[in-house]
Amino acid sequence: MASTLKIPSPLRRFTNGQASLDVNGKNVEEVLNELFSEYPDIKNHLMEDDGNLRNFVNIFINSENIRQKGGLSTLVDDGSDIRIIPSIAGGNSELTQEELIRYSRHLSLPEVGVSGQKKIKASKVLVIGVGGLGSPVSLYLAAAGVGTMGLVDFDVVDESNLQRQVLFGVDQKNKSKLESATERLKNLNPHTKYILHKVALSSENALDIIKDYDIVIDGTDNFPTRYLVNDACVLLGKPNVYGSIYRFDGQVSIFNYDKGPCYRCLYPAPPPPGLVPSCAEGGVLGVLPGIIGTLQANEALKIILNIGDLMVNRFLLFDALSMEFNELKITKDENCVVCGSNPSITKLIDYKQFCGILNDDNKQEDFDEITVQELNDRFNNGKTFTVLDVREIHEVQIAKIKGTIHIPMKEVYNRINELNLNEEIIVHCKSGKRSAKICKLLIENNFINVKNLKGGIIAWSKEIDSSISVY
Ligand SMILES: [Zn+2]
Repeated sequence: MASTLKIPSPLRRFTNGQASLDVNGKNVEEVLNELFSEYPDIKNHLMEDDGNLRNFVNIFINSENIRQKGGLSTLVDDGSDIRIIPSIAGGNSELTQEELIRYSRHLSLPEVGVSGQKKIKASKVLVIGVGGLGSPVSLYLAAAGVGTMGLVDFDVVDESNLQRQVLFGVDQKNKSKLESATERLKNLNPHTKYILHKVALSSENALDIIKDYDIVIDGTDNFPTRYLVNDACVLLGKPNVYGSIYRFDGQVSIFNYDKGPCYRCLYPAPPPPGLVPSCAEGGVLGVLPGIIGTLQANEALKIILNIGDLMVNRFLLFDALSMEFNELKITKDENCVVCGSNPSITKLIDYKQFCGILNDDNKQEDFDEITVQELNDRFNNGKTFTVLDVREIHEVQIAKIKGTIHIPMKEVYNRINELNLNEEIIVHCKSGKRSAKICKLLIENNFINVKNLKGGIIAWSKEIDSSISVY
């Protein structure tokens, strides 16, 4: 009966990919000689010229180190499990036979080659936001062979994500984005180590999460997180590969790298809340995050490989309609509050407050809210009131609450005389945000009995009438 010799993955390129061999030697030396006669190239990696085992290589027989036994003359019983264990210096970035094949199109590029591919394997990249931008970023960086990829997101996959978030499919609807993404990415590249951070990035956790990575990719969709990511990268000295999308326009840059500016050098403070609509309100062309996210992945690889001209001190604008790329020159602001020579921000702050977003508990509204159950009761009581739907026409075509009148948000002011001043008016939109703005507008225009439908048509669909589509 033979014994089994196990070959560790870094050495399998010398054994034609063989992970284990049957051997018959009576002691370790005989076993190794059998190995060397079949695969002579491996000898140099295990043995010194004087015939001793190299000191960074250990051999274990049935979990016992032969150095603590009889060395190379240690006897090998039949059926033993013999393992070669080379020392691995923190994060082994040697490429296996399988990886050499997988990355062959990289290896034939002189700018990448084996040494570049090892750098990619040794790199640790954090993708913040696994959505429109995070999808192409994580897919391409995983495919390219990034060794460690962190993913930050706490959301679940929604039907309306599938128009652009190409990591996900219908099977993942209502499932965690992180788990769905990892499933897909592992299938694409099982050699990458995926670290999941299932949290909303905040001032409390950002430094702790970001500190272990080499590069941060900003795939966020809101101002508080964008400023938080920027400040955390400055405080920790990490490059921040920035991308942003809205309607048909995209932006790309690298912040806080190689003496270049940070996001605050360019935009010291955010716009007031409500001035710039989010993608959910303003829309985004589905392919746009594909274009911008791919450019971010490109810049991240260039940083890792130290090749090409990076988007440092440069700000790229992309217009999908005119199909134009324009580039602006940007520079570091020595007076920048976070990365300047005398910064006033030396730790993370409250970014919601900085962006003018009040916490829900502090919010003071001068109109009442009504729940979907209360509205349903009113419909059943036959009381006189008006339900005003302020969504866009394409949204009404998808889903509509019966017995409502429709005036799109931007037309309400000009058509305000279509509404009865003395009647109770309940305003609704998709989630309750836009309708809240219209409630304010009506009150400013002398309407007295105005209420906002809490949770909008989404809540109506979930709690009252599930036949209404959620979009
Ligand atoms: Zn700055």
